[in-house]
Amino acid sequence: MKIAVCVKQVPDAAATKRIDPGTKRLDRSGEGSLNPVDANAVEEALRIRDASGEGEVVLVSLGPEKALDSLRKALAMGADRALLVSDPDAAGSDLVATSALLAKALEREGADLVLFGQQASDSDGAVLWAAVADRLRLPLISQAAELTVEGGAVTGKRQTEFGYDVIRAPLPAVVAVADSINEPRYPSLKGIMGAKKKQQDVLSLADLGIEPERAGTTGSRTEVLALSDPPPRGETRKLEDDGTGAEKIVEFLVEKRLV
Ligand SMILES: Cc1cc2nc3c(=O)[nH]c(=O)nc-3n(C[C@H](O)[C@H](O)[C@H](O)COP(=O)(O)OP(=O)(O)OC[C@H]3O[C@@H](n4cnc5c(N)ncnc54)[C@H](O)[C@@H]3O)c2cc1C
Repeated sequence: MKIAVCVKQVPDAAATKRIDPGTKRLDRSGEGSLNPVDANAVEEALRIRDASGEGEVVLVSLGPEKALDSLRKALAMGADRALLVSDPDAAGSDLVATSALLAKALEREGADLVLFGQQASDSDGAVLWAAVADRLRLPLISQAAELTVEGGAVTGKRQTEFGYDVIRAPLPAVVAVADSINEPRYPSLKGIMGAKKKQQDVLSLADLGIEPERAGTTGSRTEVLALSDPPPRGETRKLEDDGTGAEKIVEFLVEKRLV
């Protein structure tokens, strides 16, 4: 069974985030790391591969060449090889362009199962997997907190406001996993040393047969027009609970005409 895992390099959690005022994009030039929930997706892929006793886990990413550092972390966890789509013409790709490029790379791989993390910690779209599944015309299970692959189908358990949904889809399928699905393993020293030697392909847009106009800002359908700081918080009042806390809250709500 071939499992593709889409992983993204995001700015390190400890780094101060800065918006480039010229491009109105997040400045991603600093230290990067593997998007946290993508490590859960990698872990799940490794468990499925190892439980079946055969197969391959391929990492697929779009980003600058330095994204290879994060891909190596996932290779050190145990993934078999990595494919990075990297091209100067892809810079500035929005969700629409990003989904087109990733879908093309995934089409080329023809995996039985495509895993995503639920959400990237920098852009927080939580939607790329839906766009990619639609482009590939594959069924999609999102927010998966449990996953089983059996008899040519994948079953995902998904937490909802009122309980769980259990969704079954025939393979090939796309699944976005929640961070509650597992605890990602730490790469071993052997894994870290071995990662460097694993196959890491860097593909340009031309390698994928994608015209430059379909990527980057020209291939994007959205444009950031303006950015501003969040508005300052309004008036706040602290109520001490001296045994009449509930009454005070009701008085406050009445005063504000909220009840
Ligand atoms: C106008 C505009 C310009 C932009 N310019 C840039 C830019 O120059 N550089 C840039 O990096 N981003 C840029 N972005 C952001 C980029 O479009 C998003 O990062 C991308 O659409 C994915 O959305 P997300 O990060 O919200 O991912 P989500 O939808 O939150 O991600 C869900 C999951 O999708 C997978 N995933 C997300 N991104 C990737 C990826 N690149 N490769 C592989 N898997 C992935 C991961 O598994 C992740 O957990 C731009 C956005 C806009 C609107």
